[in-house]
Amino acid sequence: MLNQKLFKIEKEDSYTKHTRLIKEYKASHPEADIISLGIGDVSFPVPLPVIEAMKKACDELGSMDTFQGYGAYWGIESLRRAIAENDYKGLDISSEEIYVGDGTKTDCTALLELFDAGAKVLTGNPTYPVYRNGAFAMGRDVYECSCDEEFKMTIPMEHYDVIYICSPCNPVGNAYTKSELKKWIDYANAEGAYIVFDNVYRDFAQSLGLPKSIYEIEGSRTCCIELHSFSKNLSFSGTRCSYFVLPKEFGEELHSLWRERTINRFNGASYVAQKGAEASYLPEVQEIIKKNIEVYKGNGKLLRNTLLEAGFSVTGGIDAPYLWVGTKDRMECWEAFSFFLEKLNIVTVPGAIFGSKGRYSLRISALGTRENTEEACRRILEFYEKDN
Ligand code: PLP
Repeated sequence: MLNQKLFKIEKEDSYTKHTRLIKEYKASHPEADIISLGIGDVSFPVPLPVIEAMKKACDELGSMDTFQGYGAYWGIESLRRAIAENDYKGLDISSEEIYVGDGTKTDCTALLELFDAGAKVLTGNPTYPVYRNGAFAMGRDVYECSCDEEFKMTIPMEHYDVIYICSPCNPVGNAYTKSELKKWIDYANAEGAYIVFDNVYRDFAQSLGLPKSIYEIEGSRTCCIELHSFSKNLSFSGTRCSYFVLPKEFGEELHSLWRERTINRFNGASYVAQKGAEASYLPEVQEIIKKNIEVYKGNGKLLRNTLLEAGFSVTGGIDAPYLWVGTKDRMECWEAFSFFLEKLNIVTVPGAIFGSKGRYSLRISALGTRENTEEACRRILEFYEKDN
């Protein structure tokens, strides 16, 4: 019998359809100067000192004296130590609590193996679609949480076992404050539930009251697993490296079982990628990352101001590199996507890809180049000023 939950994966409101429509439009309009503010890929190269570290790692593989093969199933010790010492400075997280992977997309779904197959999984609507579709691929039951008017998940009255929270958030671009997260932590501890906290956009958080890590909040160590990726800050979207934290409070037995599970299920992230990720903690790389993030944040601000001026309702663009934009006159999102593509030559993402509540929204990315973002803003303003 096939996995029946696989049939619940959304095919119509999907990135596959999105990619096909863009490809078809480009083929029929080869002259169009198309700006992509769609899929959330980065627009800076991998920093040079990181490239150097990866070249050195390649050289190590070229001699059996320094060769690295099987064995580092949950990450090389030097990277896990660097993560603990830098990302969790003052938060009492050790390298033994860190598990390195080949991307948060893989990790956020693979983590479901920690929970019973009958676990009730809760996601937002809208949500990063991988939580929902990945859980279906794992044969899990997925439930949608209701959200408030700021698109934040509201604490349910019923019991759920695994709750995905993304903050700063893809797709809606908002972020949960410490006090909002504390309520979720209290819910999880009271219910014996677990929070999978996706912190991929951590470096974008700038508003007061936002934590850099869930472990800044009391009670989190017994119920929260935090995930982070090098894809966005280090432009590792193609290089692939990530990690998650399983606090020691989950128990030594669980850790040793998870390690056994990992030995059986995963042969570790690429050694070269891990050495690159390790180099991200060099002071000169931290400087480059900071500068790049500042550009993305500037893009977010520019897009936000432009879209507001053009009369759209907008969430996000401040603490996360995404803007959640309500379509005008309740235009259906695929129609609005085509409208932006054809009239402005700007690629956006139809909100329905993130869930049924995105039917009248578009997601716009601030991860483009400054030049393209400025040109997109110019086109939007010119079009809507003419329109009004
Ligand atoms: N989590 C969220 C919320 C994302 O937006 C993305 C990518 O866009 C990922 C995870 C995937 O990260 P990775 O490239 O590490 O697989």
